Amino acid sequence: MESHFIAVSDRVKLIKPSPTLAVNAKAKAMKAGGADVLNFSVGEPDSDTPLHVCLAGTQAIDAGFTRYTAVPGILELREAIVARMAADKGWQYDPEQIQVSCGGKHGLYNMAQALFNPGDEVLIPAPYWVSYPPIVQLTGAIPVLVPLLEKDDFDLDPGVLKKYVTSRTRAIILNSPSNPTGSIFSQSTLEVIAKMALERGWVIISDDIYNTIVYEGGSLPHILDIDPRLKEQTIVLNGVSKSFAMTGWRIGYSAGPKHIIAAMNKIQGQSTSNPSSISQKAALAAVSGPQDFSVEMTKAFLPRRDYIVKELLAIPGITCVVPKGAFYVFPNFSAYYGREVKGRRIGGSVDMSDYLLEEALLAVVPGAAFGADPFIRFSFATAMPVIEEGMKRLQQALARLV
Ligand code: PMP
Ligand code: GLU
Repeated sequence: MESHFIAVSDRVKLIKPSPTLAVNAKAKAMKAGGADVLNFSVGEPDSDTPLHVCLAGTQAIDAGFTRYTAVPGILELREAIVARMAADKGWQYDPEQIQVSCGGKHGLYNMAQALFNPGDEVLIPAPYWVSYPPIVQLTGAIPVLVPLLEKDDFDLDPGVLKKYVTSRTRAIILNSPSNPTGSIFSQSTLEVIAKMALERGWVIISDDIYNTIVYEGGSLPHILDIDPRLKEQTIVLNGVSKSFAMTGWRIGYSAGPKHIIAAMNKIQGQSTSNPSSISQKAALAAVSGPQDFSVEMTKAFLPRRDYIVKELLAIPGITCVVPKGAFYVFPNFSAYYGREVKGRRIGGSVDMSDYLLEEALLAVVPGAAFGADPFIRFSFATAMPVIEEGMKRLQQALARLV
């Protein structure tokens, strides 16, 4: 065992490195070493950031817009976010109710730090996005995982939810469309959650980061639209990473009650000061400019989704819920667990992902990382020929398991 003179905090021992970023790093390193790895791991659009957004960034540099900004983000950007939410959703916010953060992930981090006390319980529907439990745990609060079932298309069963509620329940995190399942919470589910939240004073955290990526004109019900009183206890999280292919620019935003945003601003002011001034100008161009980029990207994802789902379902033993939004598919591989190849036993999703990476050069994320071991996550935000070749390799690799 490694020993170090200087110990790390107990807090950091609670968490592990982000598994999505870890698989991506491993796949990229293998690729750099010459291996023909097909990367279905990390979730980021494969398009370039739109040109007008990039130009706004370079113009910011040319104009010397390179200094500290206001802690919650520049007013122009917060005003543009207010206008965007009003136009798209009909929600009314003031700029003081908006915080711009260093990516959506950081918005969630600020939110958790501003809201939770040790011992608070936070309901997290599982499969969940990998960073929710660690972000909650770093505050001393307790993630309470509420299972979503494949047979329900990963919608939340209110009867199941009720079993996980206690007097210490403080909040619920909703992510619809979901990473990793691509599922959308139904109106009736959201109505039950809304009623419980109103009765019990829960904080609702609605992670809407995939809300522009919804297929076939499908509707996307939102909890805020159910009862106007919910606005007092809901924080909406969004950003430009997915909708404008801006993952590296690191701009997210949160909207919520003024005192919560003010508390989040204290955390931000004492940790990162403000998101990059240049990225904020680029995000301003994204949020206030034409919105067709996301529409076109979603149109491009649709045939990829249809193809990958069809190919997965053609593999004996695999089941797969059709994603309604986002760009992930989360098939059930458990029929292959317990099988072997050349003395190598595939016990679960981690073994399966290692096997696929090492033997088929396919980078995927194990379901265990999302709290759901039967499953494997594939991001289909990648080129069609990559998906075609990937599905061939997958079929061959699984056929070798006996
Ligand atoms: N929420 C979910 C569900 C995500 O998948 C991501 C992707 N990283 C984020 C939030 C945060 O995105 P970012 O920090 O890149 O803006
Ligand atoms: N959200 C993306 C994913 O799940 C990006 C990586 C991360 O931030 O976890 O792959």
